[in-house]
Amino acid sequence: MKIALTSFRDAKNWEGTSCSIARWQPVWSSMPEFPIDVKPVYKGEKLSEWMKPVEYKRKYNLILKEKEDKLIDFFSRIESDEPIILCCWCTLDRQPQFKGKLFCHRILLGWWIEEHFKYAMVKYADGAESPIWKKI
Ligand SMILES: [Zn+2]
Repeated sequence: MKIALTSFRDAKNWEGTSCSIARWQPVWSSMPEFPIDVKPVYKGEKLSEWMKPVEYKRKYNLILKEKEDKLIDFFSRIESDEPIILCCWCTLDRQPQFKGKLFCHRILLGWWIEEHFKYAMVKYADGAESPIWKKI
């Protein structure tokens, strides 16, 4: 299984099936939405970079925990080697306040995938290679 986590802007540079994991898409983009809702919205609360990183991570991981069965079912059915490109808005130049670190749920989703699917090849792109959180 090959997964790339990138921005809408960078998606054109990847081959594979692109899906949006953002709350909404740019007007020029019309990707299908990822079939499981992993948008950063926890019990109606929009999670975003105005939150403390540790609090965002905690709440986003709760979203993933709630969706865990569906996510495991979805990813364990993937047999094709065609990459899945999961996209949202975040790029380093949209977040200058974090000085070269990216604050974005796609990173946390990527870590979740790596943790649950040891064979997955997960690539982090357009800023996601430099997370605001440390992987533990
Ligand atoms: Zn993002």
